[in-house]
Amino acid sequence: MSSVSPIQIPGRLPLLLTNEGVLLPGSTMRTSVDSARNLQLVRSRLLKGTSLQSTILGVIPNTPDPASDAQDLPPLHRIGTAALAVQVVGSNWPKPHYTLLITGLCRFQIVQVLKEKPYPVAEVEQLDRLEEFPNTCKTREELGELSEQFYKYAVQILDAVSLEERFKMTIPLLVRQIEGLKLLQKTRKHKQDDDKRVIAIRPIRRITHIPGALEDDDEDEDNDDIVMLERKIRTSSMPEQAHKVCVKEIKRLKKMPQSMPEYALTRNYLELMVELPWNKSTTDRLDIRAARILLDNDHYAMEKLKKRVLEYLAVRQLKNNLKGPILCFVGPPGVGKTSVGRSVAKTLGREFHRIALGGVCDQSDIRGHRRTYVGSMPGRIINGLKTVGVNNPVFLLDEVDKLGKSLQGDPAAALLEVLDPEQNHNFTDHYLNVAFDLSQVLFIATANTTATIPPALLDRMEIIQVPGYTQEEKIEIAHRHLIPKQLEQHGLTPQQIQIPQVTTLDIITRYTREAGVRSLDRKFGAICRAVAVKVAEGQHKEAKLDRSDVAEGEGCREQILEDAKPESVSDTPDLALPPEMPILIDFHALKDILGPPMYEMEVSERLSQPGVAIGLAWTPLGGEIMFVEASRMDGEGQLTLTGQLGDVMKESAHLAISWLRSNAKKYHLTNASGSFDLLDNTDIHLHFPAGAVTKDGPSAGVTIVTCLASLFSGRLVRSDVAMTGEITLRGLVLPVGGIKDKVLAAHRAGLKRVIIPQRNEKDLEEIPGNVRQDLSFVTASSLDEVLNAAFDGGFTVNTRPGLLNSKL
Ligand code: ADP
Repeated sequence: MSSVSPIQIPGRLPLLLTNEGVLLPGSTMRTSVDSARNLQLVRSRLLKGTSLQSTILGVIPNTPDPASDAQDLPPLHRIGTAALAVQVVGSNWPKPHYTLLITGLCRFQIVQVLKEKPYPVAEVEQLDRLEEFPNTCKTREELGELSEQFYKYAVQILDAVSLEERFKMTIPLLVRQIEGLKLLQKTRKHKQDDDKRVIAIRPIRRITHIPGALEDDDEDEDNDDIVMLERKIRTSSMPEQAHKVCVKEIKRLKKMPQSMPEYALTRNYLELMVELPWNKSTTDRLDIRAARILLDNDHYAMEKLKKRVLEYLAVRQLKNNLKGPILCFVGPPGVGKTSVGRSVAKTLGREFHRIALGGVCDQSDIRGHRRTYVGSMPGRIINGLKTVGVNNPVFLLDEVDKLGKSLQGDPAAALLEVLDPEQNHNFTDHYLNVAFDLSQVLFIATANTTATIPPALLDRMEIIQVPGYTQEEKIEIAHRHLIPKQLEQHGLTPQQIQIPQVTTLDIITRYTREAGVRSLDRKFGAICRAVAVKVAEGQHKEAKLDRSDVAEGEGCREQILEDAKPESVSDTPDLALPPEMPILIDFHALKDILGPPMYEMEVSERLSQPGVAIGLAWTPLGGEIMFVEASRMDGEGQLTLTGQLGDVMKESAHLAISWLRSNAKKYHLTNASGSFDLLDNTDIHLHFPAGAVTKDGPSAGVTIVTCLASLFSGRLVRSDVAMTGEITLRGLVLPVGGIKDKVLAAHRAGLKRVIIPQRNEKDLEEIPGNVRQDLSFVTASSLDEVLNAAFDGGFTVNTRPGLLNSKL
């Protein structure tokens, strides 16, 4: 070729056949590489060589022909675009592939195909002068989409007008990329070596434990134990009263034949007594500034809760002893209540112990069984103290709202005694039968709702509400806390798995519907497990690959090409894997691992006929959207309600119907025979789906009215609107509770308009700004306003009598 162009592309180019569109000079595109031919090209040209020549590719648009054999080179389009690969991302999921970001340089024409395998290489003739390709804004934008770190370089490249300069900037970048990859490979090899070392150490440890070496005479051993026990009692720092009991008991024990059932009982008792931390405590270290940093590091958002906890700790520090109320965190599951409790312990340098109270209905669960009782045990408080081994731990009383009651006494009463600073220095567990001082224990309680906490207990507590998270908060929590934790638990590194934020958003919106982040966390767990298997398999294969490194290049040709045949994939997949690359969890990977999305399209599908409206409900688990469905049939004016409704909800339904009947003329609502008496020869059935869940409360009133108005007018309710509000017989809308959680639920479900009672307007202040931006709020003081906002074009206008949907 002549030297007319200032920069020339090489005379021979490896050809990348892409079927994802046409790359034009000056534009940038992402293309996915998964055929054996292209994979091999990427691996030997982009990930190995360091010279410019090896990074220019010939990109040929290709239309795959399903009939042709994958091994044969398809007929090639004669003109292609020489391109520079600016980024290579690889993934093993669901099958090995790379994603290339390529920028087109200039056109070329194929003169002759020089070789076809393992990837085609052709002699080419350059068609465009390289300087001529347009420096468009579009390219700038596309490059700008690259990661922030790359952005700086990308702009520099873009700004370099002469091509030579541009290449000069690109090459170091590519070299860096390659160096990075090499480094990654090295780190992973190191890790493997370390793992091997650990495995080598383990058997040695095991040998030091010689089983059977202590098989002396059982009786002697027991006697030794009793002597030991006696010594421990003597040296123990337990209070005098406890000490006396122990001395008495050990005397009895010594006289007892070992075969007596009471022997074991007494011995267990004494062992517990000497083990209990009567006088052992940790020293509090409390530095409010450090505490603030620690709380902030461990938890994203939840500002109100963190602030209140810090205040609490500050007061503690000043007073040096706190006989104040007990903190109780109230909120839906998975919003971090337990986790904050744990952080409090950490800031104080105290031990942490969680006592699950859900379902506890026997007071001996808290206070223990008397020792005369067969199978008697201490209660959970004493057990907890034994576990932590100090007398000043942080005890998290989890789910105080789920305490039960039974004939065996009220556990709440026992708990009151535990929490009462006037009594708890003398807490007597029935099993111990001597007092233990609990005054140094710091109690924190959690609950989903205050409604079911026994009033006497509630009185002792200071309630701090912990609301649910917005989508944006969840994404931050996921990437700052949940994902790193899950990776660590599964022994994975960010070099092995990458979860982009869009994927997280997909999981949040399509795989979970919750106020907290617990299911989200579990989903990450599932992804990590699946990836761990892939990585483990990959490492195994990599080991094989290392051995075959010598055979790299042409020698591997047959093996690589065999990959294209599905039946041989399991035999020789090794070389098709890009082992240096993190597994990228994109939506395909997500679908593979978690199955098809669970929450999709639900809203619009369900609102596709008249007689359906979306309400907002508050539950102890956070806000939820709730569908209300209505249908009518010939009958005698009966109203049927299903969906496990409480009395208040049933009343709302009756109110709604009465109001509509009395306003039927005004709104031109008629039954099937055209009569304004809506129940004339007509039965109505109202259903609240998720029939297995009990529902009650007045706030569904407006939704029922809207749903019935839709049914009798034949008009569809807007599919993006949700509502809440209590109604009166005269059509007024009264305020309801839980607005924040309800609004967050509407936002989660992707709805756009929320109708709330006028008198709840002040509650909107609590809604995070970004959620408020996404939604439009309608405040209504009467049912007229609700209906006008719920139907497109309002409800009072454009409504013709007898406009009925034929489906009904
Ligand atoms: P709860 O006790 O409210 O049911 P948990 O404390 O068990 O919830 O939280 C579930 C998980 O979510 C934990 O791993 C916790 O660390 C994490 N988590 C919840 N909220 C946050 C937050 N704001 N920042 C960081 N992690 C959080």
